[in-house]
Amino acid sequence: MNVGFIGLGTMGAPMARNVLKYGHALTVFDVAPAAVRALVAAGARAAATPAQVAEASDVVITMLPDAPDVERVALGRDGIVQGLRAGSVYVDMSTIDPETTRRVAAAVRAKGAAMVDSPVGKTADAAVAGTLTLMVGGDAADIARVRPVLDCMGTDFFHCGPLGAGQTIKLINNLLATCIAEASIEALVTGTKAGITLDTMLAVFRTTMAWSSQLAVAMPKRPLAGDFSPGFMMKLAHKDCRLALAMTESLGVTAPVGRAALASLDQGLARGLADDDVGALLKLREQPVGVEVRLPVGEPS
Ligand code: NAD
Repeated sequence: MNVGFIGLGTMGAPMARNVLKYGHALTVFDVAPAAVRALVAAGARAAATPAQVAEASDVVITMLPDAPDVERVALGRDGIVQGLRAGSVYVDMSTIDPETTRRVAAAVRAKGAAMVDSPVGKTADAAVAGTLTLMVGGDAADIARVRPVLDCMGTDFFHCGPLGAGQTIKLINNLLATCIAEASIEALVTGTKAGITLDTMLAVFRTTMAWSSQLAVAMPKRPLAGDFSPGFMMKLAHKDCRLALAMTESLGVTAPVGRAALASLDQGLARGLADDDVGALLKLREQPVGVEVRLPVGEPS
């Protein structure tokens, strides 16, 4: 298939490489020239605008930071909609709000094309490995047409419901994951300050309901190893929680724990940690009490 890919960042670059690896022809665009050069070196063709990407593609994919970026790239001047071919499918894999997805889809349909939302779960490592979780929303027939391309990037595939359902579950998922991370950090810093070793805490939690993928996978790999490079930037986690809480509110659901997690992320951004990994939330709880919760060097978990 002729595939177009726009947004070649932490996630998009390895995802696009996997599309190439499975033999699809790939046309790419990013506002960062170095990101485009790297994909061209791997065998992709560069386009000058999102419209040109769409003109060259049966399936157009975006992996952009936030909803305004998707609106600009899809609906703006020289945007995707301008170049979309009738019969093509636009797949947005960014994490945004379902209302924006539905608004963009209306313009896509007006060009005789279809839209699918497929935000992704897991981390940049899974993007490289091609083992992402795909939370897909849209019509079954449209999804079936793009499935061969989605399968290049992910192994855990879920058709969550109609258009926008992928974004809905992705926002809930990330709010939950952030709440678990913040609560885990508070527990680990408290235990450390009280003189309990990290090994002891992890050994105990592993056997109880306190255990989670945050403690098993995400935290040992980055913050507990003293690595605060992204990964998943704190500003993106903030965006996800903000959008998720707007959704809970619009549905009449109160979310006091989610609000507390967003307040921690607010604090992180105010402290200049926006471009660090979201695991840098750990520093917010460590620094005031003068401890560092770290695994011994050379011990990943
Ligand atoms: P990123 O900031 O690393 O990459 C975004 C890319 O989009 C950059 O290369 C940037 O230059 C490009 N871009 C921005 N505006 C553009 C425009 N107008 N036109 C063309 N290109 C533009 O972000 P990321 O970590 O790759 O995340 C992308 C999306 O995936 C976000 O919605 C994020 O929430 C979601 N996500 C990230 C992770 C993760 O672990 N990083 C995991 C799951 C989902």
